[in-house]
Amino acid sequence: MVSQLDNGAFAPIDHAVALADAAQPVYGASNASTRARLLRGLADALEAQAPALIALADEESGLGTARLTGELARTAYQLRGFADDVERGVPFHQIDDAAVAGAPPAGRPHLTRVFAPLGPVAMFSASNFPFAFSVLGGDTAAALAAGCVVIVKPHAGHPELSRRVFALAADVVRAQGLPEGVLTFVGQTSREGGTHLVSHPVVSAVAFTGSYQGGVALWRAANARVRPIPFFGELGSINPLVVLPAALADGTEAPAKALAASITMGCGQFCTSPGLLLVSDDKEGEQFVVDLAAALASQTPHRMLTPAIRSGFEAASAHVASQTGVRTRLAPSTGADTATPAPRLYEIDADAFLAQPALREEMFGPAALVVRVKSHDDLLRVLAAVEGTLTVTLWGALDDTAQHRALAAAAEQIGGRVLFGGVPTGVAVCHAQQHGGPWPASTHPQSTSVGYAAIERFLRPVALQDAPDWYLDARRGGLPA
Ligand code: NAP
Repeated sequence: MVSQLDNGAFAPIDHAVALADAAQPVYGASNASTRARLLRGLADALEAQAPALIALADEESGLGTARLTGELARTAYQLRGFADDVERGVPFHQIDDAAVAGAPPAGRPHLTRVFAPLGPVAMFSASNFPFAFSVLGGDTAAALAAGCVVIVKPHAGHPELSRRVFALAADVVRAQGLPEGVLTFVGQTSREGGTHLVSHPVVSAVAFTGSYQGGVALWRAANARVRPIPFFGELGSINPLVVLPAALADGTEAPAKALAASITMGCGQFCTSPGLLLVSDDKEGEQFVVDLAAALASQTPHRMLTPAIRSGFEAASAHVASQTGVRTRLAPSTGADTATPAPRLYEIDADAFLAQPALREEMFGPAALVVRVKSHDDLLRVLAAVEGTLTVTLWGALDDTAQHRALAAAAEQIGGRVLFGGVPTGVAVCHAQQHGGPWPASTHPQSTSVGYAAIERFLRPVALQDAPDWYLDARRGGLPA
């Protein structure tokens, strides 16, 4: 249900949606070369203005030019990757079952399964990826590749960057002779504005990356509509990392340093940041925690994205520290904790962790909670309690043993990506990637928001029965059969 449609505050949103509505039939029927040219044109335009955009992104987000340079390159890379997939025919794929003479169930008509764009997508930019999950980020690229027009809700953490990236994108759309509504922008708006956008009858799907609270509020709005729509939300995640004794066989210092770098990367503002560490309650485990605390103490993260995220981190880490049985292994010394938060590390025993669901909440920032486990059963119980997470990392589980098989199965049960080495921060953009997972990692566990399978979110299957050849040809996007 659209609230206050006549409210002037929503006029810019309604205008953007009206443009998107007008553009959808034209763009939805576009062929592969039109979509690929658009995606490549957007990548080129982004790169052409890279130095100025990176400087602006750094000013607004504080993420640093090295990280932002890499992120812009990734954003252009994934736009071009989706262009390649479009030309390979991914959104125009047809699955054909020839007619079979005779009575059912063996006998059947000619059926062809094709894929139609869902329609206009409302895309909520993420705070923590000013390029790769914002105006021209992965959600936008996937939706455009699928033939869906996109209405961008920018994030308040990088408003000027969002406006500049949108302006360059609008120039590309115009120069390629496409309708203005292929990509629209609602500008900064209130919370009510975001809800209004999700509730608008023209909007057919939503892509969201952000907090559990914000995501759930908008997911509810998407489901409360007269016509509920798919809501692809990537919400919180605590990303458990299991440190088995075999992982410490060559010493504790190197793995501790690698983990500390991952926890503090981007000031801990990654959805894949390892926030829950399962470590044996023995001598080697203790040495690992000592080394980890030391490695974290030597890190100096940069400032956080916004004052709200900074205060949110303070509240979340204080909340964890105040739970029964939590021991503080590393905390900021007085005066060391300003706009730039110092890393922190907490510890608890498995039984106390299991008794307190509050400890399964994300601390979005440079912090982690160590759970000390006494047995294989402890590991399985703690993992099961996590329920839904983007990643699970298993260190030291490379041998084929019954316990490792059980751990891997437990990890798959709760995680979208299971790592048998390395750290979960850093998400490759490729066809095999999965960035999602059971609730609350994702509101839609069958889908991914990173990698080329992300296009599937915006394609709706349609079965064509006894369709004439001319129609099947027309549905091929100009590509050969
Ligand atoms: P956020 O507060 O959820 O905001 C994301 C987007 O949703 C913004 O456009 C925001 O609009 C909108 N929004 C939030 N609450 C809403 C509501 N109740 N109704 C309508 N729209 C709403 O996320 P954030 O600003 O990125 O960061 C805040 C927290 O989110 C962090 O501290 C962290 O805990 C979490 N986070 C998690 C991830 C992850 O990947 N897991 C990523 C980023 C952030 P406004 O701009 O108008 O507020």
